[in-house]
Amino acid sequence: MAQLRLGDDIDDYCVRCKRVTNHSVVSMVNTEPAKVRCRSCYSEHDYRHGEMPPKKDTRKAALFKEVLASVNPTTAAEPPVAPKGRKKTARDS
Ligand SMILES: [Zn+2]
Repeated sequence: MAQLRLGDDIDDYCVRCKRVTNHSVVSMVNTEPAKVRCRSCYSEHDYRHGEMPPKKDTRKAALFKEVLASVNPTTAAEPPVAPKGRKKTARDS
């Protein structure tokens, strides 16, 4: 891998564009890019090594749980279903 320098092109995840885009290196720490600037929207951010932030998913999951609880509040009152290999199709109601 070639040594990176200021102004070099590098692929990274852009939070504004919500995808991996072309970036320019605007700040270096030792031999690693510290800050990059998106070449599509020109926003500057810390270099993320091309990784997407995973925050969103956990928040969404929490929200989904909340919605489920409000939609079906009886779920908690029901006894847990025994995890056996039975297959009953008459439980639709
Ligand atoms: Zn961007």
